[in-house]
Amino acid sequence: METRRALARWLEFAVDAYGGDLPVRAPGSIVVRQPVPETEPEPERVPTSAADAGAGTPEGEAAPAAAAPTPAAAEPARAAEAPADAAAGLAALAARLADCTRCKLHAGRTQVVFGEGNPRARVMFIGEAPGFHEDQQGRPFVGPAGQLLDRIITGGMGLRREYVYIANVNKCRPPNNRDPEPDEVAACLPFLREQVRLIRPEVIVCLGRVASSNLLGTTLHMRALRGRALTYEGIPVVVTWHPAYLLRNPAAKRETWEDIKRVNRLLGLPEQPARPASAREDASSQPPAPGAGAEA
Ligand code: SF4
Repeated sequence: METRRALARWLEFAVDAYGGDLPVRAPGSIVVRQPVPETEPEPERVPTSAADAGAGTPEGEAAPAAAAPTPAAAEPARAAEAPADAAAGLAALAARLADCTRCKLHAGRTQVVFGEGNPRARVMFIGEAPGFHEDQQGRPFVGPAGQLLDRIITGGMGLRREYVYIANVNKCRPPNNRDPEPDEVAACLPFLREQVRLIRPEVIVCLGRVASSNLLGTTLHMRALRGRALTYEGIPVVVTWHPAYLLRNPAAKRETWEDIKRVNRLLGLPEQPARPASAREDASSQPPAPGAGAEA
């Protein structure tokens, strides 16, 4: 009975994150429209950038849910592998970027949006560029799309936002929220690469086409990238829809839900969190040090 109640609680949060795509009856008679297969077939690999050449850990090698290490057991290994100076490195990088004029986007920004989160996060979310709200507040994903991302993190992964790391390819807002142009991406991408190198997450989640194509150096369409075993410098990459796209196309939330379950499997976490939000806070990573948000 307790297990059934826990499942019902989790589904309530999942519905909060994914809207009406996940129908919930009264507790005790829960139905999910599409049953989740117990095992996921090995996706086809996609060649991406030179940075990805020879890349890393095949997704198929991730432990299946039944054999996955418990989060608590996985955590010490992560702590040992994480760069000890990640927080200091991120802070120094943020300081360097505060007055950056390397590309023309600097002219229209209110402030640089460097990124924020746990310097030792196990999972890193990457978007394309700040929007209006982010430009105003100097923080990534704080508008309506950011609120949906928060719900995905809490409802779909059982984590709190401050235990992951969130950044964009470009750190300054493009005019009228247009896509960053190639020269702007070329100017700013090295900073994102440095963030990844410092944090060294176990999984990267690319949010949307622009982030995916620029990080992976591919022109493949989103539908060709989703569900594929991709890596960036040996780090597994999961491509999913940008939350802003999900707000415009709620039907795609179901696909993001499948993508997030892949992320959970790659992290060795249960596909579906037993409890949302703070339930996994001790398992996700160590909390960020004061001031480690590394915001510009
Ligand atoms: Fe500098 Fe990046 Fe801003 Fe361009 S987008 S001005 S490279 S911080």
